[in-house]
Amino acid sequence: MPLHPVSSRYGTIASSLSIADSLQIITYPHPTLRRRSRDLVRVDAELKRIAARMFELMYQAKGIGLAANQVGLPIRMFVMNLEGKAGEGEELVLLNPVLSRPKGNATMEEGCLSLPSVFEQVTRPKQITLDAYDLTGRQIQGTLDGMMSRCVQHEVDHLDGVLFIDRLTETGKLQVDGALEEFEIDFDSRRNTGSIPDDEAIEAFCREIDARYCS
Ligand code: ZN
Repeated sequence: MPLHPVSSRYGTIASSLSIADSLQIITYPHPTLRRRSRDLVRVDAELKRIAARMFELMYQAKGIGLAANQVGLPIRMFVMNLEGKAGEGEELVLLNPVLSRPKGNATMEEGCLSLPSVFEQVTRPKQITLDAYDLTGRQIQGTLDGMMSRCVQHEVDHLDGVLFIDRLTETGKLQVDGALEEFEIDFDSRRNTGSIPDDEAIEAFCREIDARYCS
């Protein structure tokens, strides 16, 4: 399917421009991590390339799940492979996920590719029911347990602009405070050198992506 140019008051995305090639994992406190993404209403060839690129980035970073806003894209999509290795396990691309019927409680250590080397205990529902779509528009439904339940809940949080550090106990928050401050200092210095765009440029890019996939 050919890609159509998307225009906005910030200019036009040429149909030849690849979003997928330019993607990188963004880290705390990048503002797109705090954005609540909207449901996708459109799937195109570029979105499939984006999902493929997200798997590459996830494997490189030794993760098992990666949400679209962790690569700067405010769309409700995430990729997951509990084995964390290309060619092993099951690769899932989930669109517009909805969680329901939480049951029980479980506490487990979590980490996040947007907060490298920060790990803390997080309590979440043990079991959850997931409704979502895959890239072909097929509906996916299941009641999840264990690592699958944990990972899906962590990724859906991302799509709502929520990070696992928001779900820590007071003691847990104190444990990660120093690390978060270092991330903030590093982020500011990368902004000062221009390697991270300013808030307006990020907002403009998010609006272009939203217009292309969610409106
Ligand atoms: Zn994460």
